[in-house]
Amino acid sequence: MSLIVQKFGGTSVADTEKIRAAARRAIRAQKQGHRVVMVVSAMGKQTDVLLKLAAGVCERPPAREMDMLLSTGEQTSVALVAMAIHDLGSKAVSLTGGQIGMKTDNSFSKARIRSIDTRRIERLLEEGNIVVAAGFQGIDDDLNITTLGRGGSDTTAVALAAVLGADACEINTDVDGVYTTDPRLLPEARRVDVISYDEMLELASLGAGVMHSRSIEFAKKFSVPIHVRSSFGDRDGTMIVAQAESESAAVSGAALTKDEARVTVLGVPDVPGMSRTIFNAIAAQKIAVDMVVQNVGAEGKADVSFTVAGDELDQTLRAVESIVDSIDASGVTHDAEVSKVSVVGLGMADQKAVAAKMFRALADAGVNIQMITTSEIKISALVPREQSAAALRAVHEGFTLDQRPADAKTWKEIKAEAAVEADVHDVVSRLQNDALEALTLTDIAFVGGQARVTLDGVLDQVGIAADVFEEIGQAGIFIDMIVQGFDGEDGRTSVSFTTDEANLEASIKVAEQICEKHAMRGVRGSAGITKLSVSGIGLRSHTQVGTVLFDQLAEAKINVEMIATSELQVNVVIDSAQADTATRRLKAAFADALN
Ligand code: ASP
Ligand code: MG
Repeated sequence: MSLIVQKFGGTSVADTEKIRAAARRAIRAQKQGHRVVMVVSAMGKQTDVLLKLAAGVCERPPAREMDMLLSTGEQTSVALVAMAIHDLGSKAVSLTGGQIGMKTDNSFSKARIRSIDTRRIERLLEEGNIVVAAGFQGIDDDLNITTLGRGGSDTTAVALAAVLGADACEINTDVDGVYTTDPRLLPEARRVDVISYDEMLELASLGAGVMHSRSIEFAKKFSVPIHVRSSFGDRDGTMIVAQAESESAAVSGAALTKDEARVTVLGVPDVPGMSRTIFNAIAAQKIAVDMVVQNVGAEGKADVSFTVAGDELDQTLRAVESIVDSIDASGVTHDAEVSKVSVVGLGMADQKAVAAKMFRALADAGVNIQMITTSEIKISALVPREQSAAALRAVHEGFTLDQRPADAKTWKEIKAEAAVEADVHDVVSRLQNDALEALTLTDIAFVGGQARVTLDGVLDQVGIAADVFEEIGQAGIFIDMIVQGFDGEDGRTSVSFTTDEANLEASIKVAEQICEKHAMRGVRGSAGITKLSVSGIGLRSHTQVGTVLFDQLAEAKINVEMIATSELQVNVVIDSAQADTATRRLKAAFADALN
């Protein structure tokens, strides 16, 4: 018999009427022949209410007691949901995190799941019950109650779906699916039928608040199809699965991260270990950096730019200023008024000219691009905040995201074509390792035989990036990474890209023409470089990946020429002569996480 996990978020159980509606939905699924496990969040804003209560009695509540308190929110709602089901004439049993055997580590307030014992749930289902499980909570080895972090009920739901081998995990929420961009920012955003785990992970990290990132990591790791739908209607929502909606569309979604800040460390000596010092100082403050770009200047000095969330700017500046002297850099500049617009798409990995198209859309809207970074399935551009709404609209229109691609498929069609069901035996065997949420790296690999081309002294003007990459595309040159840095000194910047070594000469030729046309300073190119990629799941929530990577490279005195990071990959460009050493070191350092 098929099994579904139905998760109901806080807004879906906010009052007694909604609780009864949730109960009815579960009963209906059971009557349709499914075994049903519900995972329920605390009612409405109850978690916030509890947090406030705690703040009223204690300035810094002990983390253990906080989890004890917060877990009561879910305990209340599961009991009420089970009662409502009884009242409607069906059988239900509510269970706490401990009672579903949800074992976690002991990091209170952000515990990670280690294992789940499904025997009790299975027995109760066997007896014809709807099982109503408390989301967001577990127990550690000492039977202390732990919580998984805000929004953690999603993770509980997907984890249960994985260990129970459920057919799907339904996320009943206050939105009716996943959109091509936030419909509150752009009314013409389109609800998609299907989106891939990878795209959703990238979009979630860009602030698309539909689901807890950790739950998507989990779903991907264990191939759990997720159905995001509205609790208040019967319409199908969006399926989050391995495949993308369309095979031909290069871009599936766009996102705006409005409140970003740029920081540039000027005049950093271009020797190994400098990035490590800068980024370790920031990582020590538990701040995640994004859009890291390093422009190597002619005099062996580099400007290192990156972005952080706007509300972490002050702390970041303090961290960076404390190490500027020790690395002999010449100063730090920043801009607090920037936003990041990104496009994401599984299809862009094997299509040319996606970047040029995005830059052209921005140029046509008169938007000036301040920084660019790319990764396998994401391109991000940093833009002035006052142009951010126009920028989002421009890229959404540029990739016609409001229109359903002609070859778009529904989940039913995809499912009919491929055997996409998770292999339950495989999942179960992987669950034996007692660390369900541990960092998993899928690969450490390098692509050698690459070349880097840099255009120096690029004027900071609208339309330049579009011109550069259109012309390169027209010359038939396939490029991989693109970075455009920020140069505070003379209002000029540099743009670098990587390509196959075989394209070096042709690329330089085109670059020289562009350089002349736009009165740039010059072109540099070098062959013999390698792109090293660490791929995995959850590289953002496991922040140590960057730290370990930089440490390993710095210890081996390997200079990092370019960096690009995403949810799914951390890429660095290094000298090919050092590729073997680097790969060996990283494989050793990450041995535990590689599967
Ligand atoms: N009640 C918890 C929170 O608000 C967990 C959840 O809703 O997912 O964060
Ligand atoms: Mg919630």
